Amino acid sequence: MRLHYDEETEAFRSELRAFLLANLPPAEERDEPVRSSAHIPEWARRWQRLLFDSGWLVPGWPPELGGRNATAVQQMVYHEELARLGVPRSCNPQGLSIIIPSIVDYGTEEQKQRYVLPTLRAEISWCLGMSEPNAGSDLAGLRTRAELHGDRFVVNGQKVWTSGAHDADYCFCFVRTDPAAAKHAGISVLVVDMESPGIETRPIAELTDRDHADFNEVFFSDVEVPVENLVGELHHGWAIAGGSLAHERGMLWISESMGLEKLLERAVATARAPLPGGRRLADDPALRDTIARAYVQAQALKLLGYRGFAKFAKGAASPEHSVLKLLGSELRRGLALDMGEALGPEGLDMDRDDAPSGNRRDDTAWFLLWMQSFSNTIAGGTSEIQRNIVAERVLGLPRR
Ligand SMILES: Cc1cc2nc3c(=O)[nH]c(=O)nc-3n(C[C@H](O)[C@H](O)[C@H](O)COP(=O)(O)OP(=O)(O)OC[C@H]3O[C@@H](n4cnc5c(N)ncnc54)[C@H](O)[C@@H]3O)c2cc1C
Repeated sequence: MRLHYDEETEAFRSELRAFLLANLPPAEERDEPVRSSAHIPEWARRWQRLLFDSGWLVPGWPPELGGRNATAVQQMVYHEELARLGVPRSCNPQGLSIIIPSIVDYGTEEQKQRYVLPTLRAEISWCLGMSEPNAGSDLAGLRTRAELHGDRFVVNGQKVWTSGAHDADYCFCFVRTDPAAAKHAGISVLVVDMESPGIETRPIAELTDRDHADFNEVFFSDVEVPVENLVGELHHGWAIAGGSLAHERGMLWISESMGLEKLLERAVATARAPLPGGRRLADDPALRDTIARAYVQAQALKLLGYRGFAKFAKGAASPEHSVLKLLGSELRRGLALDMGEALGPEGLDMDRDDAPSGNRRDDTAWFLLWMQSFSNTIAGGTSEIQRNIVAERVLGLPRR
């Protein structure tokens, strides 16, 4: 089987590639490090603004929203190319890919004016306030309360794992507005200005990045939010939660398979490179076998991704999503561990200057990748939840 695109799609790809190669900020301009998923350094602001002005930020949207009405297949090619070149689109992915599409779907005209264009132009950034200490997989169990007093809501409660909250301008915050209603009813969504009095963000230190924390605990104590910041109807936030997560899933098909392909390329490069003393991982038949198996699995997942994307583009249900999310994230974790173990003690010390093949980040990074890979098996629905979905919705096994 040979998969290929029609001429029009290939022309779209060439135009995009030429644009990216001509305009991508050079590495030295990208010096200012990105602190968190809601921190937009100056170079990233300029780059996102250029993408927006050139119709390459969200190509599936109309030109006035930074797009060019690209077809679903063209959007797939867009994400393929970005992943292939390792090009960042936005430094605030939750703002661009989850929150703004939700405001376009559910927000008032005034909210669209106030938030959509400034976010697309990288002038403001967002965090997503869903998870709480007792509401993660079971999001509907959230308890942060918002009581309506005249023209304001008063918010009290706590969120956790809120990526980028300490750098974000706004929080897209899921709150309980009717405690007497059934669990999934009585939830609403508010846009909360992160400068409001009564908000405290406490960054959570991460094992994988000692210098920058992305996660936060966020505490709300009598935080006042104007009633016009309610997104969608009062007590109907559950539908928005479903819609927001669907936006997040949309492009997983392609980014996940491209990510695996890049990981395999990296494994092959590490295996080929000579280690101190002349040893090469590629000389170990067991590791060759491991990499070959991972390659076959990644190819199978890529084809599953294309199939899922084709259904997604037609608006059909695509239960393959859970299979891809589950197997892709676990393949990533398994390969990173196998590579790290094959490197052995040489791969353990993250601070060595003379790390194998003289490239500290690339070689020792397999253990970092392994530690980071746990996040993919949790964020966006844990592996256990994906298995439940596959069992119940794909295989039709009885619900627990
Ligand atoms: C990188 C990353 C970024 C994140 N960013 C954000 C963010 O910006 N905003 C935000 O709101 N949240 C964010 N989260 C939080 C994420 O949404 C939650 O971690 C996730 O939903 C799981 O919830 P939890 O951590 O409370 O675990 P829990 O739901 O408490 O689960 C604990 C364990 O129990 C298992 N479990 C739970 N329910 C079941 C079940 N029914 N059947 C079988 N097993 C079950 C889980 O699989 C898991 O192993 C982020 C998480 C990560 C890893």
